[in-house]
Amino acid sequence: MATIIYQKGDLLKRQRFRTGNAAKSQKTIAKYEFSFLLGLGMILCYYFIVNIEKTKQMKKNTIKKVGLFTGLLLCSVSGVVLMHQVAKENAPEFNQTKVVIDNKTISIQDFYDNLHFGSEGWIYTTPEGKKLNVDSLCNFHHKEQRKQDALKNLKLKKQIDTIYVSYAQNELKTLNKPNIIFTKAPADTLANMPAMGRCNYDVIVIREFKADNQELQEKMNRYNDCLNGTYVHEEQHFFNAQNGIRTWNSYPLKYAECCFDEISANIRQCLKQRQNYLNHGRDLKYITNRFSFYREALETGKFYPQPGKISEEEAGFIANAVFDSWMKEKYDMYSKQVYSRSKYFLKDAPYPAILEDKDKHNDIMKMIFTIDGVDFWKTLSKREAEIFARITPEMKKNWENLSNEKFQKMGYLEKLEYKKITEGNQTYQNTLNKNVLKAKLISMFNMDK
Ligand SMILES: [Zn+2]
Repeated sequence: MATIIYQKGDLLKRQRFRTGNAAKSQKTIAKYEFSFLLGLGMILCYYFIVNIEKTKQMKKNTIKKVGLFTGLLLCSVSGVVLMHQVAKENAPEFNQTKVVIDNKTISIQDFYDNLHFGSEGWIYTTPEGKKLNVDSLCNFHHKEQRKQDALKNLKLKKQIDTIYVSYAQNELKTLNKPNIIFTKAPADTLANMPAMGRCNYDVIVIREFKADNQELQEKMNRYNDCLNGTYVHEEQHFFNAQNGIRTWNSYPLKYAECCFDEISANIRQCLKQRQNYLNHGRDLKYITNRFSFYREALETGKFYPQPGKISEEEAGFIANAVFDSWMKEKYDMYSKQVYSRSKYFLKDAPYPAILEDKDKHNDIMKMIFTIDGVDFWKTLSKREAEIFARITPEMKKNWENLSNEKFQKMGYLEKLEYKKITEGNQTYQNTLNKNVLKAKLISMFNMDK
């Protein structure tokens, strides 16, 4: 709806944004400030002298008036010159920056001239008197919130994709290691085990394996939702997206979050198998090989799980064991995919949005790891360093390049946002107010043409 399309100016205090002209203009401004103060000083001195004269009863009205007039004249002339100078110095920056609001391109001078801060946020008033909220220009959190609101409103849809399975015959036997043929698996290779499910925004696709004989069907059931718990795994990915997996943060934190997205889905799946096990008279067949560590713990009597509640000890064990097995068996397989996913989520993020925000990260992690009312993040937050330790120098280098690109691309108000994060809200408000004032001066001296 509203975007800044071009900006030019020295807004940030960083060295790379400083120009020689800016330093020169500072000197010129200082010169005019000096004459302004000199004029003001003359008036004060005059009053002082007049007061001495008063005590001496030697009041000379004519001299007083002339002196006062001269002082005021010098003061106002240098004041006007100072304002003129500020307008002249800033006019090019404002004139070369354009803002697109409501499909209309306006100058940044016009933008600031008609910008007001109210309880609703930053409001721009169009020449027709229309009031538009332009908060999204000044604050990336609003953009992000709109995206999250859209995700929250999605209604989940479920699809079942049937894969027909049979034993291989004769020569095909050698082609298929497990001697099994999977047919009608669109995007997968038929000789290998097709994926069990996936979640794409609001659609969950579950694979249902249908064998042509009972014996094989028994074997295949461990990949079906009834034993595997595929649906809850995919549903957890959907919940995680609704709870902020796609929001903006630094590259390393987003990468770790995408790894944790998988770990969280696996914990939910493990809890589903635990529930199936309890619902079927503690039948161990309901704990598949995916969670063999949990089956072994049950076999050796490490826990005696109760329906409806999970002890601290059991929750800690599940969190650590799922993490260990994922890092050992799945990390290398998923690493590339997780890397592209995290990069994709930050594709549209402006530079201020990719600054590390640990609090936001912890809030999201706490939400995605509160599963069945149990807080698994309590245990897993202590293991996060193990994910960071596996980030390669090549990944770091790529992230650095991407961050630099975003830094260079920052627009005028994104730089303001950056200032807000690095220098505090007060500096941000002051700069915006100063810009509104500058815009007024520029239009007063007719430099906005
Ligand atoms: Zn998954």
